Amino acid sequence: MKANSEVILTRKVTPEMIAKLEGIVGKDNINTGDMDKILYSHDMAPLPKEAGMAFKNLPDVVVRPETDEQVAKVVALAYRDGIPIIPRGNATWGLGGCMPTNGGIVIDMSSKMNKVLEINKEGMYVKVQAGCTWKGVLDECMKLGFIVGSYPSSFPAGTIGAWTSTNGMGTGSYKYGSSKDNILNMKVVLSDGTLIETGYDQIGSYMSGYNLNQFFAGAEGTLGVLTTVTMRIYPMGEIRPVTYEFENLKDLHGPIQKIISHASIKPLHIAWSDYLHFANQRKAGIHAPKVKNVLLVALQGDPKFVDLEESEVDAIVAEFGGKKLDREIADHEWSERCYEFRARKVGVGEIPAEVIVPAKHWGEFVDECYKGFEVMKMEPGGVIGVIVDRSTALFMPYYFKDDESLLGMTAFSFNFYLGDRASLYGGRTTGFGVFFAWNMDVIHDGETADFMRDLKTALDPRDIMNPGHLVCGKTRFGINMSKQLMAFGSKMIQGVKKLLPADTTFSDNLKRFRYNDMEHEVEEGRFRVLGDGSQ
Ligand SMILES: Cc1cc2nc3c(=O)[nH]c(=O)nc-3n(C[C@H](O)[C@H](O)[C@H](O)COP(=O)(O)OP(=O)(O)OC[C@H]3O[C@@H](n4cnc5c(N)ncnc54)[C@H](O)[C@@H]3O)c2cc1C
Repeated sequence: MKANSEVILTRKVTPEMIAKLEGIVGKDNINTGDMDKILYSHDMAPLPKEAGMAFKNLPDVVVRPETDEQVAKVVALAYRDGIPIIPRGNATWGLGGCMPTNGGIVIDMSSKMNKVLEINKEGMYVKVQAGCTWKGVLDECMKLGFIVGSYPSSFPAGTIGAWTSTNGMGTGSYKYGSSKDNILNMKVVLSDGTLIETGYDQIGSYMSGYNLNQFFAGAEGTLGVLTTVTMRIYPMGEIRPVTYEFENLKDLHGPIQKIISHASIKPLHIAWSDYLHFANQRKAGIHAPKVKNVLLVALQGDPKFVDLEESEVDAIVAEFGGKKLDREIADHEWSERCYEFRARKVGVGEIPAEVIVPAKHWGEFVDECYKGFEVMKMEPGGVIGVIVDRSTALFMPYYFKDDESLLGMTAFSFNFYLGDRASLYGGRTTGFGVFFAWNMDVIHDGETADFMRDLKTALDPRDIMNPGHLVCGKTRFGINMSKQLMAFGSKMIQGVKKLLPADTTFSDNLKRFRYNDMEHEVEEGRFRVLGDGSQ
């Protein structure tokens, strides 16, 4: 990376720059239209239009590169004038990670850079473009009898580069770790357009030396754009989900502790869903098994070993009074692992509050989730989550909220509330993005947070790589979303939420609309009068 020199940055996207971008990616791969800008101004988080008052979240231009070199040229051009670069996968994260905070160039990685480049069975690795979805790569590997170690439950849409950049936890994390644990090598474009490699395609990064694979993972695009990723793949064997039912969710505490402290059992995935989750799905007219609280354990490997693990897990669960469920229910729950939020079908906002807590406090934190629903007057969707590793549990209690009114935004305060509760147990909220960037100063001491900011400045001296994210949340007026300001705001919004009447949007909508009938009507061929476009 070249040294920074004294330059005056215009920070303006000019027609001359657009022409240069067209020269790099081709005219058809550029968008500057208003509608495109709106589409690329947010991720899955339902934001009221008022958000535009705080952030300049409309990008100046969207580009869809096809190669690593094109990404490098786009970034080098942006570096020249100090224009923000916002890497974007499929925008499913929800913390505003790919939301521009000060205009700039959104690099859409998923449109063209979405290919599986090589699957090497002997070397047991797969090389993919960063905009490829996890489903895309998993499907290709499975055809050859391999799996990728882990993937998010949003794997039909979540991209390789994005999940690596958020260092997420998901399906398979219990056995194989997170994305970063499975990376062999990456190509990364740095802020001045330099293209580097972080490791080796065919061997792991061992011994001393800065481990760049680990360094760029979890950086939320603030240190560079990942363009190509090489990951380990594993012989698939059999994947066998098993499910167990318990009277109360908290009853799962014993078996979970015994499984995670077992010397040999190593399931691919351990997850749970509570009675509310199933009941609400059924209320919403979705097919869901008639069960109470469910522990899902997915085992993977050679069938002989899987048999052994299953009998061990069966014995542990029986000891704690759990009931083994039919194979169909286990298969159903496994196939539903990426559709946790189906109850939104009734036209309601459905948001998870994600926190990680030490796995040993699992049972106590179940109580915290239900208490939180009550104290914050939430309309609960369910308490679901995943055991990430022997020490870490990811809780995702979700709730329904009114997406159509500004007041509905107060429901987000539950996420602040739960983050505060998690910290009492040594846990924390998960990602940062824009909305939780201030949390950097909450979960780290001041010196450590400053060191991270210094690293960012050293690698990105012109502050163009996804600015306003992860290490620094800043509004368009230059107001820092500091720990103090946000802690005050968070307490205030929690206070307001407690004063408001309890949320009832889900149950109201159930009464107001007959969704299944609507589907039926569409099938019957509903008569519609379309305008001629002049209205
Ligand atoms: C139903 C549902 C289930 C989910 N389940 C999980 C889960 O199990 N585990 C989990 O961790 N998350 C989960 N998520 C959150 C999200 O889907 C994942 O984090 C996913 O990996 C995001 O992928 P994306 O392509 O949509 O990323 P985006 O939202 O487009 O981007 C996410 C972040 O990555 C950065 N980024 C994107 N591409 C690159 C790149 N090539 N180089 C550098 N930075 C980049 C962006 O700037 C942004 O900061 C879930 C979301 C939903 C809606």
